[in-house]
Amino acid sequence: MWLRASVRALLELGIRPGMDESLAKRVRLSNGMSLFGALMLFGSAPFDVLEAPRWEVVADLLGGVAFLCFPLLSQVGFQTGSRLLFLLASNVLVLGNDVLLGHDSGAELVFIALATVPFALFDVGERAALAAGVTFAVGGFAVGHSRAFHQLHRPPPGFSATHYYVYSAVMAFAIAIYTLYRLSRANADAERALREDVRERLCAQQELERSRQTAAYSAKMAALGEMSGNVAHEVNNPLAAILLRAHRLRTLVRQSPLDLQALERVSGDIESTVHRIRRIVDGLRTFARDAEHDPLRPESVARIVAETIEICSERFRHHTIDLRVEPIPPDLMAVCRSVQISQILLNLLSNAFDAVENQSLRWVRLRADADDRQVRICVVDSGPGVRPDLENRIMEPFFTTKDVGKGTGLGLSVSKGIAEAHGGQLALDRASLDTCFVLTLPRAPAAPLAATTDAADPKTEHGSG
Ligand code: ADP
Repeated sequence: MWLRASVRALLELGIRPGMDESLAKRVRLSNGMSLFGALMLFGSAPFDVLEAPRWEVVADLLGGVAFLCFPLLSQVGFQTGSRLLFLLASNVLVLGNDVLLGHDSGAELVFIALATVPFALFDVGERAALAAGVTFAVGGFAVGHSRAFHQLHRPPPGFSATHYYVYSAVMAFAIAIYTLYRLSRANADAERALREDVRERLCAQQELERSRQTAAYSAKMAALGEMSGNVAHEVNNPLAAILLRAHRLRTLVRQSPLDLQALERVSGDIESTVHRIRRIVDGLRTFARDAEHDPLRPESVARIVAETIEICSERFRHHTIDLRVEPIPPDLMAVCRSVQISQILLNLLSNAFDAVENQSLRWVRLRADADDRQVRICVVDSGPGVRPDLENRIMEPFFTTKDVGKGTGLGLSVSKGIAEAHGGQLALDRASLDTCFVLTLPRAPAAPLAATTDAADPKTEHGSG
């Protein structure tokens, strides 16, 4: 138990809290390899005593101690130095064997294996250290193979290098296989981590999208709630008008002779009032619908504006705010989801309403113009405007200057998101003298006249104040 704990503590030497995980992994690996090297060297010493030259035993012991010191070097902060020294010491030991035990010891095989180790101990980003590690092994191989220090090779009498060949081959295979195993495992770990990561990111994205949709829907409902607070009026007034005309009809049919023209006129009035109620109810129903997945298609700007005004005009009238819509060409088309554009306009109108509500001069204007590519819809009001220091913040989600319970701070941010999803923009026109918000949308080619006749709703061309 304590052995396992000690080994674990040794492997963790040099790992700092908050250290990059990839570096921590490599330091741990280098500590593990140092420990393995020390064990191999201390373990070889008894065999070398029996057969090898004396210096080999000394090299085993000194090498073992050196390998044990490398993790300590990491611990005091030299993580790169420790790994480089580990590689240098390994290669020097092998070179010593190659030179002193002779070519037949097979030590050169170990160089080939050692050339792979730097790839496990260093990241490709640690280029200099990686190159140095490989150079040690290639250089060691070249020096050993050149027989430059051949004269130092003095084996003791009776020494057989064949045993060392087997030992070298086993070491070379063990080092190469272990290094490749670690690399392959690190690869698998990284891939697995990435696949988690991707799943988590996907989940987070889905969650974000869900929250965005919920926020957009809440903002829409808040705007609808605010603006259609007077919808009862909107429907009650025409209902009262219908009732009055029904009484009038009853009076007319009792008269003799029947005034057919008057009957015709009163019935026509009733019909048009019923149509008005139907338009209001349809407008509310359409607006409340989730339009997130509607296709983008050419829509009449005049019609969208008219339908939006239909929902909120009574509120302005009720508070004696002069709401005017400048005439919009009936064939002006924008590529959009009409319900979402209605939502933006309702938000802008609602903000304009709040801005002018307590002013002495109270008007709101809506106008639209276009160039070849874009349609611009402007909502202008006579309010005090946006404070210059808040201009950059008003589009942030949850930013509001309104009282708790009145503002959600979502209107402009959600509207901006919708406008951008249409390939358009929503911005405060800072150059305008009055407070002016501008919605830009991609323009669609004008539709054939027949398709746009109902777009020219005359209501949009008159003020409601
Ligand atoms: P909310 O209306 O719930 O506050 P918005 O995102 O629609 O959220 O608006 C954010 C803020 O932008 C408002 O609280 C207000 O301070 C400012 N603002 C928006 N429109 C106008 C306007 N027409 N005039 C003055 N300030 C405005």
